[in-house]
Amino acid sequence: MTGLTKPKTVAEINERLRRGEAVVLTAQEFKAEVRRGVRERLEDVDVVTTASHGVMSGTAAVFSVPVSGRGVFSRATRAWLNGVPAFPGPAPNERLGYVDLMVYGTTPSRDAPGRYGGGHLFRDLVEGKEVQIEIVTDEDRPLSRRFTLEELDFARMYNFRNAYRNYMAFGNFKGHSPISTIFGFRPMGPESGVTTVGTGELNPLQNDPELRTIGVGTRILVNEAPGLVVGCGTRSGPDRPNLSVVADMFTMNPRYMGGFITGGGVEVLNAVAIPIPVLNDAVLRALSHCLDEKISLPVADLSDRLPLAEVTYAEVWQGRDLTIAFDPTRRCPECADACPAEAACPVEAISWRERHLDKERCTRCGACAVLCRGGAFGADLGRIELLGRQWPITFRLSDRVRAMELAESLKGRLLRGEFLLSESVTPITFQRPGAKPGDFRRS
Ligand code: SF4
Repeated sequence: MTGLTKPKTVAEINERLRRGEAVVLTAQEFKAEVRRGVRERLEDVDVVTTASHGVMSGTAAVFSVPVSGRGVFSRATRAWLNGVPAFPGPAPNERLGYVDLMVYGTTPSRDAPGRYGGGHLFRDLVEGKEVQIEIVTDEDRPLSRRFTLEELDFARMYNFRNAYRNYMAFGNFKGHSPISTIFGFRPMGPESGVTTVGTGELNPLQNDPELRTIGVGTRILVNEAPGLVVGCGTRSGPDRPNLSVVADMFTMNPRYMGGFITGGGVEVLNAVAIPIPVLNDAVLRALSHCLDEKISLPVADLSDRLPLAEVTYAEVWQGRDLTIAFDPTRRCPECADACPAEAACPVEAISWRERHLDKERCTRCGACAVLCRGGAFGADLGRIELLGRQWPITFRLSDRVRAMELAESLKGRLLRGEFLLSESVTPITFQRPGAKPGDFRRS
């Protein structure tokens, strides 16, 4: 208890963080208290840490890469990093021997288009692996070399659409022939079940739906590195906002990053954590109200992405298995040579020959539990009622466990005084002047 009863300021909470007196809870701790019937008061908690982790397509990065000595070439016209096409410029860096490049997280590699892309590249770089740069100069001359992140002066993520305020569930409900989609681990037919997206009650924007505390300039963690909110993201609207964020990549933690292989191409994984300062009763009420069972989850057909029904995130996360059970002693004779789970795993976390599941890479999507015929992988992913029948959830594009880990990491940093809250510079506004709730429904 801090003894305060009046609204607080960010400066007051920061002072308590500095003195080691602040009360910081993760979103999962806060929700557990609410479910136990504890009515949190303003004086009981100073900060709640929230987080989201999963596929976040609107992710890109800019690198400044040394290619040669000065005067060797004038400028690059085309470039690839580990075969992933990159965009040279906008600065030409004429005759300086290096190139500025932008890479999209969702761009497939020229050499392994269905297996490797920008997301894989970002993780490889942050893991300290050597990466191959190839360029073609304005004189049509090819040049290449290998480099690591350590050699770069500039490596920054510029993400245009991250941490959506939860999202949707998708399926092929109308009986179309199988649809190739980023929402499936393989083309989704009428019997493929339901894919869900969103971390529910842990999501930062869901915990601050009126954007009372999250604004332009809010300090956050992106893949566990310090970052900033720049503003709203693309396709963002008042009723369903998302964020543009930036963060340098040098201190990112690769376990929150990577590529993610889907039935519609390569995707990119990211994690964003945001501290919510409990400034007043309105902020506290929003945090207390933000429970899976109260958060709407629209369910849409893949063909047009228009919602057919609404359930809640309780169907996805309450009473479900957040993790995947793996029992390598179980054997399945038919799968001895070709494990369907290994083939479908979006992050290549399974080695059936070695009977190994790499838990650091696994995003707990559930595909292996759905595909495994011998019961080596198992999880209750839940089901959704729609059009008079039960549809099994078969694929999760968001990882609640890793989101909880990042919320815990942010809490630790706050309590150790390594991370202080920031006042936002200005509130988040939406790109289209005069946008109102309900205007943006292009989900
Ligand atoms: S849940 Fe299974 S399929 Fe999904 S990432 Fe983990 S190991 Fe791979």
